Amino acid sequence: MKILVVGSGGREHTMVWKLSQSPRKPQIFCAPGNAGIESLAACLPIKADDITALKDFVIKEQVDLTVVGPEVPLANGIVDEFRKAKLKIFGPTKNAARLESSKIFSKDVMALAKIPTARAKSFEKMDEALAYVEAHELPVVIKADGLAQGKGVIIATTREQARQAIVDSMEHAVFGQAGQRVLIEQFLDGEELTVMAFTDGKAVVPMLPAQDHKRVGDGDTGLNTGGMGAYCPAPLGTPALRVQITREVLQPIVSAMSRMGSPFQGVLYAGIMVVKGVPYVLEFNARMGDPETQVILPLLKSDLVDVIEAVVEHRLDQFTVEWHDDCAVCVVMTSEGYPGSYDTGKAIRGLADGEASATVFHAGTVRKGAEIVTAGGRVLGVTGRGATIAEAQQAAYRQVQRISFDGQHYRTDIAHRALRRSS
Ligand code: ATP
Repeated sequence: MKILVVGSGGREHTMVWKLSQSPRKPQIFCAPGNAGIESLAACLPIKADDITALKDFVIKEQVDLTVVGPEVPLANGIVDEFRKAKLKIFGPTKNAARLESSKIFSKDVMALAKIPTARAKSFEKMDEALAYVEAHELPVVIKADGLAQGKGVIIATTREQARQAIVDSMEHAVFGQAGQRVLIEQFLDGEELTVMAFTDGKAVVPMLPAQDHKRVGDGDTGLNTGGMGAYCPAPLGTPALRVQITREVLQPIVSAMSRMGSPFQGVLYAGIMVVKGVPYVLEFNARMGDPETQVILPLLKSDLVDVIEAVVEHRLDQFTVEWHDDCAVCVVMTSEGYPGSYDTGKAIRGLADGEASATVFHAGTVRKGAEIVTAGGRVLGVTGRGATIAEAQQAAYRQVQRISFDGQHYRTDIAHRALRRSS
């Protein structure tokens, strides 16, 4: 069996790692991959958003299954193109991926399906948005409608910041076309939880709940990033809350999309804000989250190839997805300066020196001669395993301490909320 994984981050390394453990011994390709993925898959010099080149490769190489990591190819219709050519692919169509690629569309479907979420109003005209925000309670959340690489959400604590965010998005076009429409949303004060689910458009199988750390500094301070670490299972996601989220969020949104003629197939990501025990949806993503994938997939006991086939062949309702009962904590190592500007090309030392209960997933790395060097802001994700979150955290940090590169940065408190909750 031949499988192509599309993408190049820690999420894709984790997918390739998990797929490579399948008893079906698939031959794996990754486009474009990174220096860590190279040891498990043949990396191809094809960009993740070059849909035509990916399709040509799959046809020529007779690849049996394509698995898409990032959002951009999904939003650009890779699944539609592959299906037209009768190629098996795991992920939502362009229309279904609008749950992520248009926050306004997503809000509209949530309203239709009566899914609990923050109150919001959408605007196409800047004057109307500016007038509306004058009377809005503070803080207020301003969101660009389209994909903005995680930067399109501004939480304004003053009226002036709110005005500025609207002008930046709609007049100065800092997010390009993605910010020409905005949502002005009620601020929710609570604790965030990630719940992803496998779905074939009908059946919904939630994964274990996870929590990530978006802020760059210890104690959840500093700028927002693509994620500095994560842990799973998150104690906040109690069994009762998971049942509630499945019943009130995941199942209704999947049913609504099917009723609208855009069935969602693949992984649906729900970003939830838990306010006084009640779950509200902050956003949907149309693919697996990163770094959450780096703690969730290691805890998946079932063969990922089997799960994906059950989704693609619409028989998820007959499939039992099994999980390990230990814990995982991922610490992300970044380049100094990230999420701002940073240097690359720094040699990474200590990668070969392995800790049995930890796995190193690569993100921004590239091979240069005999060395592996940094090539991005988020460089590595180090996932530790243990019987408890505390043990998993210790395993992750033991491995992190073995690794070094010039200008490295990582948070020293990943999973602090879970540890506080359990103590
Ligand atoms: P990403 O791609 O990083 O997941 P995004 O640009 O798609 O982000 P959201 O996830 O909707 O945007 O929002 C980013 C972050 O902003 C959330 O994780 C949350 O911390 C905060 N946020 C969003 N909406 C609200 C809200 N209504 N109230 C409070 N915080 C919010």
